Amino acid sequence: MSLHENLEHVGQKIVAAARAAGRDPAGVTLLAVSKTVPAERVREAMRAGHNLFGENYAQELRDKAREVEGARWHFIGPLQRNKVKYIVGVAELIHSVDSPSLLDEIAARADKLGVVQRCLLQVNVGDEAQKSGCAIADVPALVRAFAARPSVRCEGLMCIPPNGVPPRPFFDNLAKLAAAEGLRELSMGMSGDFEEAVAAGATLVRVGSAIFGERPKK
Ligand SMILES: *Cc1c(COP(=O)(O)O)cnc(C)c1O
Repeated sequence: MSLHENLEHVGQKIVAAARAAGRDPAGVTLLAVSKTVPAERVREAMRAGHNLFGENYAQELRDKAREVEGARWHFIGPLQRNKVKYIVGVAELIHSVDSPSLLDEIAARADKLGVVQRCLLQVNVGDEAQKSGCAIADVPALVRAFAARPSVRCEGLMCIPPNGVPPRPFFDNLAKLAAAEGLRELSMGMSGDFEEAVAAGATLVRVGSAIFGERPKK
């Protein structure tokens, strides 16, 4: 299938999943994950009518944002403090804030640029040692840390559930945590499980391979 058809197909599935859950499909935003995808393919997606992309390597986001005119970008990957400078003010939304020190670094950079950086808090919902994300128990304190810094704003939560087990309970848990904190955005769901995420209340789904095809193995 062509990139255009893939985009259409994923879009239709999102609409159907939202309707089935009694939700307004307009409440779900598709983030096309373009990590490792060449700029030319991103431009092709734009010609097909899509202009919101997610990257998970900081320099790759910075470079593509220069190469592809008119696109909007979200950062979704693990973020080291020394890479923050590449993406603050370039990414509309950083999905992967998970520690006070990272938050401080983003706030300092946003202060310097005179911008307000919109962010999500990534939560390690499966409590997995190898995964990024803060512990569930740390969510309230981190939300308060955001509130104390005017140059950053926490708009919601993000998660990547564990592999190999049904994701739905983790999606439901993230939705509950967000509701408890009064947060609106829920970034959850990837190519394999975005329909379930939509059923659980996702407002942002991050879909890569179902749009751009399988990525080369690293
Ligand atoms: C790569 C990636 C995705 C997209 O994964 P697919 O399975 O290709 O849809 C979503 N979220 C994050 C954080 C990613 O790194």
